[in-house]
Parts: sequence; C-alpha cells; structure tokens
Amino acid sequence: MSPLARRLRQLPPYLFVELDRAKRAALAHGQDVIDLGVGDPDQPTLPPIVEHACQAVRDPATHRYPLNRGLRAFRDAIAAWYARRFGVTLDPETEILPLLGSKEGLVHVPLALLNPGDVALIPDPCYPAYRSGVFLAGGQVVNLPLQPANGFFPDVTAIATSAVRRAKLLYLNYPNNPTAAIAEAHQFDAAIRFATRHRLTIISDLAYSELAFEGVRPPSLLQRPGGKRVGMEFHSCSKTFNMTGWRLGWACGNARLIAALAHLKSHVDSGVFSAIQQAGCTALQLDEATIATQCRRYQERRDVLLEGLARLGWQIPKPKATFYVWARVPFGSSRTFARRVLTQAQIVVTPGVGFGPAGEGYVRMALTVSRERLLEAVERFRQVLA
Ligand code: PLP
Repeated sequence: MSPLARRLRQLPPYLFVELDRAKRAALAHGQDVIDLGVGDPDQPTLPPIVEHACQAVRDPATHRYPLNRGLRAFRDAIAAWYARRFGVTLDPETEILPLLGSKEGLVHVPLALLNPGDVALIPDPCYPAYRSGVFLAGGQVVNLPLQPANGFFPDVTAIATSAVRRAKLLYLNYPNNPTAAIAEAHQFDAAIRFATRHRLTIISDLAYSELAFEGVRPPSLLQRPGGKRVGMEFHSCSKTFNMTGWRLGWACGNARLIAALAHLKSHVDSGVFSAIQQAGCTALQLDEATIATQCRRYQERRDVLLEGLARLGWQIPKPKATFYVWARVPFGSSRTFARRVLTQAQIVVTPGVGFGPAGEGYVRMALTVSRERLLEAVERFRQVLA
C-alpha cells in the first residue's frame, strides 16, 4: 500500500473526535457521563418536518439524483424565509445553493475561492471546520483573536498589513460558536467597509441565527448595505430545527460566489436527497412561536446551569444567543480543567483551546441536555470547585 497523503497527516484530529474518545473511555468504565461537549440538540426533529419527509420518501420522484442546484421549491422556501426574517431579497436561481449541511459548504468554499498561499482571516477561537477548509485548499490561516473587551468581534485594525495584503477571505460567525457573542449591525458595516477596501470576500456563518433569547434578533450580513456585494452567508437547519442528522443547510448571497461554490460542488457531490429538501421547506415555513418555544427551553437551561454555578462561586456571564456557555476556567488550563471535570465529575466540557489559541483559559458547555441533568451537573461541579 502507498503512504497516505501528507495533507492527511497534517490535519489535526477533529476536536470532537478526541473528546468523544475520552467520553467513550469513561462510558466503557460504566460511568454516568453528562455530555456538555458537542452542540447536538437533544430534542427530536419537529414533528411536521418528519411527517413531510415520510411522505416525500414514499414518492419515487425523490429517489433519483437530485439537481445539484437543489429543488426549486426549497430554494423558494429559503428566499421567502429570508424576506420574512431579514427583509432581504434573494434570487432563488442565482443566489441560493442547498448544502449537505453547512459544514460541507464551509469546508468546500475555500477550494473555490483560494489559491495556494492565499490568506484567510479567521476568528480565534472558531468553529474548527473553517481552518480545515482553508488548510485543504492550501491556504494560510491568520488568526483574528476574539477578545471580550471587543464583544468577541475581530479587531480588523490590528491585522498586520502584510497579512491583509495577501488575504482573500474574512470569516465571521454571529451568533458565535464558541463564545456565544452576538454582532451588532454596525460591526457588520465595519467589516463590509474593511472587505471593500481590501477586496476581500466575507464568509458569514449564521448557523445559530434563530437561537437567541430575551427578544434578540441576530442580524444577517446580507441585510447591511454592500453585504451582498462582498459576501455570502451559510445557514444550517441543524440547530434551529433539531436536524443535525439530516444534513441540510444552504449558502446564499453574492451570485458570483454562489456560482463558484456550485461549480466546485458539481464535481464533488450530487446534491441533497430531494425528500430532505422537501422536509426543509416545511421547516422554513414553521411559525415563529414554535422556534420561540425551543429558545425558551435553552434559556431555562442556561439559567439553571449558570445560576447553580454562580451559587458555587463560578460566575459566568449569561449568553444571549446560541446554546453554548463560554466560561473562564476557575483554575488550570482549559485542557487540565476539562480533564479534571471529566475524571472527577464525569462531565464532558470542551476545552476552549480546541477552538484556537485564543480559546485558552475557557471551556465551552453545550446546553443540549435536560434541565434535570444540568441540575445534576451543578451538584457534581460542587466537588470540582470545592
Ligand atoms: N457553523 C457553526 C458555527 C457550527 O457550530 C456548526 C456545527 O456545530 C456548523 C456550522 C455546521 O452545522 P451543520 O453542518 O450541521 O449544518
């Protein structure tokens, strides 16, 4: 057998694979593990979506290769949702592309937009797939540290001129994973001005746009003047509709960027199963009250966990969006603390450094377990924090 590609050896183990290994070892020892590691909703997919999918699967028309460009009905549903939610008009023919989950699109897009050696400006910490995609495309990552003092928004004025000169892509992700920060419209405006000045493309990831609390309505890059001129946005059905297993998302925005990604993908995959796209239409037509109920559940969990930990002396700011809590570790490094929490309390938390060097000193906890389990987690944290 020939040696494997160097590229593969250089890819770090995917963050959650490592975590999963540690969790499995604990489970194999018969431990009752509370998993606050991966952001995978514990609730089932909303029933009307499942119903529609069942009907669609029975229709032989869905059994053939789907179109790469996606079902027109799904693209129409996305356009209608965008108009309703953000007041943005999208052309379903040229400005929307269904994806096999947004991770797939986010990893593929640098292959369509970067030449080897080109720089991508990537928030640090960030969802790890951004770095993987840039790496696979032979690009170079320049980290933009996210600091609490800046609302966890990158300070573009601090980027070295040499990096800006070679940069082609700027990644933004609000509501943010892992910090749970939300962006203000004026921050998007500043990023658009920066991108325009330096001829950059903005990749905006809105996977968590619908998971927000206390009346917060996270904005879209495409809502802002010039947004569609410089960027594209990635969305996911995973978190909003509890559909992580279905693999459904989309990219939308600038027609030239969408065409580039569609062209690349036409060489890679053959589109999303049509029955899943049909179910996606139902998802996007659900009323806001249904989504609000989901958000209230996460908000209640957030309060149970953070108020409980505050009583133990661990003060963590309450996030206004996403189902993540981004917490400064009370002692040690992010890895040593996470290891201690797993061995002493059988709780999985994600070490912040896994999201990038600026994540050191933090852990991320996902609110994707029940209220009762979070109450139990607080009790177990008592021993770790004592
Ligand atoms: N973007 C962010 C910020 C995420 O956290 C995730 C998943 O955790 C994704 C994108 C990918 O979601 P999916 O591929 O399930 O659509």
